[in-house]
Amino acid sequence: MPEIAKSVNDLFLNPRTYDPSHFDAETARLLRATIDYFEGVGKTELLRRDHNAVWVTDYLDFVKREKLFSTFLTRADYADGDDNRRWDTSRNAALSEIFGFYGLAYWYAEQVTILGLGPIWMSDNDEAKKKAAQQLADGGVMAFGLSERAHGADVYSTDMLLTPNEDGGFTANGTKYYIGNGNVAGMVSVFGRRTDIDGPEGYVFFVADSQRPDYHLIDNVTHGQMYVSTFALENYAVTEADILHTGPQAFAAALNTVNIGKFNLCSGSVGMVEHSFYEAITHAHNRILYGNPVTDFSHVRGNFVEAFARIAAMKLFSNRAIDYFRSASLEDRRYLLFNPMTKSKVTSEGEKVMTLLLDVVAAKGYEKYTYFHQANHYVGWLPRLEGTVHVNVSQILKFMPNYFF
Ligand SMILES: Cc1cc2nc3c(=O)[nH]c(=O)nc-3n(C[C@H](O)[C@H](O)[C@H](O)COP(=O)(O)OP(=O)(O)OC[C@H]3O[C@@H](n4cnc5c(N)ncnc54)[C@H](O)[C@@H]3O)c2cc1C
Repeated sequence: MPEIAKSVNDLFLNPRTYDPSHFDAETARLLRATIDYFEGVGKTELLRRDHNAVWVTDYLDFVKREKLFSTFLTRADYADGDDNRRWDTSRNAALSEIFGFYGLAYWYAEQVTILGLGPIWMSDNDEAKKKAAQQLADGGVMAFGLSERAHGADVYSTDMLLTPNEDGGFTANGTKYYIGNGNVAGMVSVFGRRTDIDGPEGYVFFVADSQRPDYHLIDNVTHGQMYVSTFALENYAVTEADILHTGPQAFAAALNTVNIGKFNLCSGSVGMVEHSFYEAITHAHNRILYGNPVTDFSHVRGNFVEAFARIAAMKLFSNRAIDYFRSASLEDRRYLLFNPMTKSKVTSEGEKVMTLLLDVVAAKGYEKYTYFHQANHYVGWLPRLEGTVHVNVSQILKFMPNYFF
């Protein structure tokens, strides 16, 4: 199991004492550099950017400068022999905890890059994989175009339609909705279906380029730093080189990407509640009511103890899940149970923690000068963001008998 703390005092991420020395040198350097980047920007500016819904350009410049996503998200066999560039769930989780600690928008820009890479890395399309590795090296981000406005979780009903043409390619027409990074991604992995074949054989996963004129960016459907786009492909020419998967394999790639790629919901949630815990306990301890610190109230202590225990459990469970991801194989599929647990249950615990802390800090939790109010606004997005609680719970029910019996 990955080490998460040397003592109970550093069980939670602490920017001052953060010590990732259990990772290799370059991973440790980058994790530390990420914290230093956010600390350098400073809380006041981070909050201002959140309030003003500033797109995360500055952060993406840092990512590019440090080759952060290139190092953490490239498939090892496309890394030109560079041992630092590889996919490793344990360090990806550590990174997403840091992102959650500083702001959901940073977490999300990486998260949807991970999702966009899923169908690419899982494909047999060597050209697309080389292109993705190069774009990551150049500081690019990716996007995952599965959802549509009318269909929600029912991806079978996709209205992204591909009409075959004579040269083995297609002309794509359709609109996607809720697609993170759809404003800038060099490679948007898009799910659609052929007009000439019904049923699972007709599914196609292909890559679109958000900068092409036949890719129409319509809007950001949310207000915030995250760009959750809706875009339309209008007579978009899809060549053979753009095709990642066809038939049932395309559908499997969508599900596998969601399975593996959304794992970081749990560590993002952990980072958010850790930061909020610090703010809450600092405020409560310094606030004097009737001559005593608020932390003297027994019910306040009770809330902190419960919040602490829940965060510790969130972390421990998520770390166990990392093991199952790293050991996953056709024979070892424990991750299929632990993954929906992290996505729905760990993130739901994050919501409970915020409620416990909010009951302590009360009005302070709504002040615009706190990270707390931002985390409180976003913490509920995590269980619902990408795959809903019900869908994940039904997966838990499906895999639990196999795990236990
Ligand atoms: C901020 C944000 C960012 C997102 N980013 C992306 C992205 O980058 N790319 C992308 O492709 N998508 C993205 N999504 C979309 C996300 O994947 C969808 O929210 C998800 O597919 C579910 O769709 P829905 O929210 O419309 O809910 P619906 O599918 O409409 O669900 C409605 C209700 O039905 C229930 N339900 C649905 N199916 C089942 C089932 N099989 N069993 C039991 N209950 C069920 C749900 O639990 C829910 O309560 C994003 C969403 C948000 C909010």
